[in-house]
Amino acid sequence: MMMETEEIIGKNIRIQKGLLQRLYQTEDLNLIIPIKRLEEELALVLAGFKCEKCCKESELTFHHMIMRINKLFTNHIKYLCQRHFFGSIIVLCRDCHASLHENKHPEEMGVISEKLIAKIKKRYKWRTE
Ligand SMILES: [Zn+2]
Ligand SMILES: [Zn+2]
Repeated sequence: MMMETEEIIGKNIRIQKGLLQRLYQTEDLNLIIPIKRLEEELALVLAGFKCEKCCKESELTFHHMIMRINKLFTNHIKYLCQRHFFGSIIVLCRDCHASLHENKHPEEMGVISEKLIAKIKKRYKWRTE
């Protein structure tokens, strides 16, 4: 990974942690928008824009390790902070994601748009060589 990319990742991890801390302290739900944006782009760049299980580079999806069911069992703000922490999501292709959930219909899962992926690669000065 390029030095420049590493620096952008480090900076954005610090920003995301700061936003999560603010969400925890203020319970201001408007913070969720920038938190989610950083969550998703950091997860993608750290996964190298490919499925973390089979390395496929297309039809990518996000899997949240903190699943919605947890919402029923904990404080709402704590749930949001954990669910949207960049380290709590995994990038998986549609097929690997469906198999994780034992879902027989991977074609029904929404995938991350190629346009968004291209935008994030640019933002993080991602180079493939
Ligand atoms: Zn896969
Ligand atoms: Zn999932």
